[in-house]
Amino acid sequence: MEERKILVAGGNLLQAHTWKGMLEACGITVELRGEALMGGVGELPVDMQTVELWIPESQQEQAQSQLATLNADLPQWQCLQCHEFNDASFELCWNCSAERSECHN
Ligand SMILES: [Zn+2]
Repeated sequence: MEERKILVAGGNLLQAHTWKGMLEACGITVELRGEALMGGVGELPVDMQTVELWIPESQQEQAQSQLATLNADLPQWQCLQCHEFNDASFELCWNCSAERSECHN
């Protein structure tokens, strides 16, 4: 079993599921843990829930960069080839001309 690392803790269940879906779209295996998943969802106020996202150690760097991009809420996308950030209007990476990733669309 590959070692897992916690990517982020906190937030709420809705946000965690948003992150999980986004990361899984990029090929990252995400496991949700937290007390919000134990009890009945809906019994706790949303902002009182604690949710943790766990990811394989080998994908930690990629996941953190995806999450940072999402949290920044900028209309940019990051090149999978050279990891440069590109403006949303670019269809090809300005740096290496790689095709735009689908991850941030
Ligand atoms: Zn590039």
